[in-house]
Amino acid sequence: MPNSNSFDTRISDFKGVGPKTAKKLVKLEIETVGDLIYHFPTRYVDFSKISQIANLKIGEQATIKGDVWQIKNRMTKGRTMLTQALISDPSGTCEVIWFNQPYLTKTIKSGLTIYLSGKPEIYRSHLMLVNPEYEIAKENHQTIHTARLVPIYPETRGLSSRWLRYRIFEILEDLDGKIKDSLPPQTKTRQNLNSLSQALNKIHFPQNLEEAYTARRRFAFEELFQIQIVSLLKRKKWREKRLTRILTLEKKTLDNFKKKLPFKLTSAQERVINEILSDLGKQQPANRLLCGDVGSGKTVVAAACALTAFCSGAKTVVMAPTEILAFQHWQTLSQILGHFGVKVTLYTGSRKEEQGDVIVGTHALIHTKKPFENVGLVVIDEQHRFGVLQRKKIFVQSARGSGIFPHFLTLSATPIPRSLALTLYGDLDLSLIDELPPGRKKVQTYIVPPKKRGGAYDFLRKKVKVGRQTFIICPLIELSETLDTVKAATQEFEYLSKEVFPDLSLGLLHGRMKSREKEKVLTEFKEGKLNILVATPVVEVGIDVPNATVMVIEGAERFGLAQLHQLRGRIARSTYDAYCFLFSNSKSSRVVRRLSALRKISLGFRLAEIDLSIRGPGEIFGTKQHGLPKLKVADLTDLDLIQKARREAEIIISQGPLSKNYPLLVEEIKKKFQRG
Ligand code: ADP
Ligand code: MG
Repeated sequence: MPNSNSFDTRISDFKGVGPKTAKKLVKLEIETVGDLIYHFPTRYVDFSKISQIANLKIGEQATIKGDVWQIKNRMTKGRTMLTQALISDPSGTCEVIWFNQPYLTKTIKSGLTIYLSGKPEIYRSHLMLVNPEYEIAKENHQTIHTARLVPIYPETRGLSSRWLRYRIFEILEDLDGKIKDSLPPQTKTRQNLNSLSQALNKIHFPQNLEEAYTARRRFAFEELFQIQIVSLLKRKKWREKRLTRILTLEKKTLDNFKKKLPFKLTSAQERVINEILSDLGKQQPANRLLCGDVGSGKTVVAAACALTAFCSGAKTVVMAPTEILAFQHWQTLSQILGHFGVKVTLYTGSRKEEQGDVIVGTHALIHTKKPFENVGLVVIDEQHRFGVLQRKKIFVQSARGSGIFPHFLTLSATPIPRSLALTLYGDLDLSLIDELPPGRKKVQTYIVPPKKRGGAYDFLRKKVKVGRQTFIICPLIELSETLDTVKAATQEFEYLSKEVFPDLSLGLLHGRMKSREKEKVLTEFKEGKLNILVATPVVEVGIDVPNATVMVIEGAERFGLAQLHQLRGRIARSTYDAYCFLFSNSKSSRVVRRLSALRKISLGFRLAEIDLSIRGPGEIFGTKQHGLPKLKVADLTDLDLIQKARREAEIIISQGPLSKNYPLLVEEIKKKFQRG
């Protein structure tokens, strides 16, 4: 590529970098020139102030500039090699020693002027500099190891910051004037960003911390900008090719819909319904992600969209991750939409009804023999439970009958901070329900050690006596519902029915039951015929029984914070006080700390941020799975910078083909995203 930077040159091709050093560099993930100059300092030490030797104080960081009077090596009785030197400036003389670096006498010779940086200390009852950083003063040369802000790098055994600093300096000098910047000039101007060459020089060798910060900001911006470019290109591609049915809803019908609901929509629900309806009214298929904490009321939003499709003569397909949830959606949607003559049918592994106006099902929908006809809208609930492929398949399947692409709406209860959603799902339009229906109580959460178990059961019984219902969630044994999980739940159910609550009515729910049984149990629980539902963690996904206000979670330490939060969300659905008991035998302080976060914090988004800061986005949200390259500098919670990067990406893309306007940018993005 004639245009590109020579960052790809292998580092081992440089003189002075032998195979041994190259191997060490690999440990720092440095193989090319580019890798090395993008090996950024983690901090800087301030050696910038030059002191008089006469003013040196014990323990105070200082830099001196002086002449070498004498330097020699000497072996101690303990067989340590000492290099001793005398340095003087007009104010006085100072003793210096270095341990085990006899080669220093080859570079530091008497008569030379040098800089020394370090903390003076008392050694053998003299004030001395011990093992200071050194650098020979040359006229018209800036220092790099002393007398300035000095960069400190991630190091590895045998490769010091000094070595890295020296090499990086050399390479940057070499590249001077030759570095090509892929960020559009107008973007740099608008966002007040360093050029690449400036930023590289200043992140390594800043005059002050301000400069270092400014350089860092440029790199952070660039990382986010490139991600946004990729997302927006995907989005553009989606829009360009496909045409869809226009779905609209008359205001009168929407008002009527709202009137028939047993509650008033929250303003967040109103807002997202408007956002989505405006999407559905377009010729390009919508591709929107609706995020809202558990219990924020996403189902009714989906219902409004399905009604819109119905009124425009199109069908809606709703896919849920479990039979239980599909069944529940079928019930809810039938109820809400029944007033409008909408026929809602169920399609799961065990129950395949004729296709109605709204078809609710599980992934069995992907394998229907009879193609759907006339689908205008596909809704996927709890999107994180499905793979990319399954999502694609249901989409394609829905388009098959008529050859027209449906609108696509995915729902997610993953409490994801907005900044992260913009980064991970930047190719989708995003709607956030950031408000819970009024009157919801904070779930009071308690960590219960084994000896207090009885007390929790008593409490639960009291609540049942006043008419409330209870979930008892069995421990998560494995992520998928294995036989072990089922066995544990069944045993627990039998034990609780016989020994603990013989006077109450209990039901059991797990994923391996026949669907008719599941439906029966769920219906009985919803109708209040069961006091307690013993369940495997399958209830996590969306079960809605407002009268259930107490939850016991066995083996709480096995769950992730987000998962516990979702489980707990099941009982925060009414105006009654809600209580969650986290049973745990673990005494580990880490577990207790983690569970305590749950005790104190009730906002899913906030918990997600905590998880984010403790474990990093990679582990929690699988940033790798989203095809994101590894981020070096950018902070995935910096909403402000992310929004700026997105704005810029929008402007740049709107100006026409990137490959023509910014070939270097395209090239760089390709390289990066293939690597990541
Ligand atoms: P999720 O967003 O977790 O899917 P649901 O759609 O299942 O939440 O709604 C949770 C509960 O809140 C349901 O019982 C639903 O009827 C109720 N609900 C939804 N919207 C409102 C509202 N605006 N006011 C009161 N209750 C509501
Ligand atoms: Mg839901």
